[in-house]
Amino acid sequence: MNSIGATVLQMLKNEINEVDYQRYIKQLTFNSEDSKSNLAIYNAPNPLIANWIQTKYADKISHLFEIKTGVKPIVSICVKNTKSDKSSTTSQPLQQHSGEKPPVALLNPSYTFNNFVVGGSNNFAFVAAKNVSEKPGIVYNPLFIYGGVGLGKTHLMQAVGNVMLSQGKTVIYTSVEQFLNDFSRHLSNRTMDRFKDKYRKCDLLLIDDIQFLSGKNQIQEEFFHTFEALRNENKQIIITSDKHPKKIGGLEERLKSRFEWGLVADIQPPELETKIEIIKKKCEINRVKLDREVINYVATIIENNTREIEGILSKLNAYSQLMGVDINIEFARNVLKEQLAEKRLNITIDTIMDIVSKELNVKPSEIRSKSRNSNIVYARRIAIYLSRNLTPNSMPQLAHYFGMKDHTAVSHTMKKIQEIMKNDEDFKIKVDELANKISSMTNE
Ligand code: ADP
Ligand code: MG
Repeated sequence: MNSIGATVLQMLKNEINEVDYQRYIKQLTFNSEDSKSNLAIYNAPNPLIANWIQTKYADKISHLFEIKTGVKPIVSICVKNTKSDKSSTTSQPLQQHSGEKPPVALLNPSYTFNNFVVGGSNNFAFVAAKNVSEKPGIVYNPLFIYGGVGLGKTHLMQAVGNVMLSQGKTVIYTSVEQFLNDFSRHLSNRTMDRFKDKYRKCDLLLIDDIQFLSGKNQIQEEFFHTFEALRNENKQIIITSDKHPKKIGGLEERLKSRFEWGLVADIQPPELETKIEIIKKKCEINRVKLDREVINYVATIIENNTREIEGILSKLNAYSQLMGVDINIEFARNVLKEQLAEKRLNITIDTIMDIVSKELNVKPSEIRSKSRNSNIVYARRIAIYLSRNLTPNSMPQLAHYFGMKDHTAVSHTMKKIQEIMKNDEDFKIKVDELANKISSMTNE
């Protein structure tokens, strides 16, 4: 007999692209033993695949269940526990999704303090979150963490959640949307007392991406009362946002001011070294083996959004498994070529000059001059090298632009810089980093 879980995957197959299905979805097995009508559990072979499917397809799968059974379950993609002999699973759902309210927060179990790489860009927020986890409700309440996409805000807030969960505390992790949905449902069911019980009796409330409260007046009011109730009881609140509370438009003043009552901590984009450490960490967690060269390369490809790392690792891993080869630098460059090619469509020499001159503190006119000053020669070489690699200009065109005699002068410079890159890793990283910066800027 075909289980409902398998039937749903067959339905999904008709709706998504073949590659995703063959490469990822096909590896899922339905865990009928632990699933319930409102909870559908699938097992995936590793955390990468589990995470990827959870993010990309959990909602769709949940919807297909609803079509088939009339109940919209929470879909949880778990990792098969390879350590035990039985084909049981670790009971570690990766994220919560839609459906009925869960009894406690379903946090991502890998979002821990141990798995968080600390660098200058996030040190402040990290220490703040760590303190809060040690003395919840006492040190800073609320803790407000803000910063750009993919910089680790959700990770940090859930790290506090995971600590408290392991102490048997009640933790609620929610988005504004979920909070709003829950509110509306209880309002129309006339069960507001249950709503209040749920949100006001927890030990830790995590509200992710609070900027979405903007302009939603009724829910702001409700959130205000929840906030007050929790704070009066010294229950910890952690909030994240993409901007400082002062800068969130369409938000009641009393909320803004309360968000600043505790501690406001920002996270900045990671430095290159932090990016490298994060990649190493993700490799360790996901059991992907990359050598130093590949790690450095991936670090230069990703922009500020750390979230890209998992996508890249999953891509490298999938290809290498598919083709049965190890991941070395040539392989990585090949696999990630398209990703970069797309970014490079709009790059011009002017953009390159602009960025190189700013980053290296040399004027564009100096780069194009005949000066032999070592800083200028350095910047000129890099500009030529990047222009050759990132734009479709020919050697004669480049010679013309940079005021060089002819294309052999360009070709000579290219050889020279390749030689330096071979012998000087720091220099190579710098060039790759500039290349990435240029790609990302022209992509915006
Ligand atoms: P945000 O909520 O700020 O958009 P997330 O917390 O979702 O970002 O982080 C995106 C991804 O990057 C997650 O997989 C997270 O584990 C990872 N990540 C971000 N910063 C770090 C860090 N400093 N150390 C380890 N992983 C990180
Ligand atoms: Mg987030």
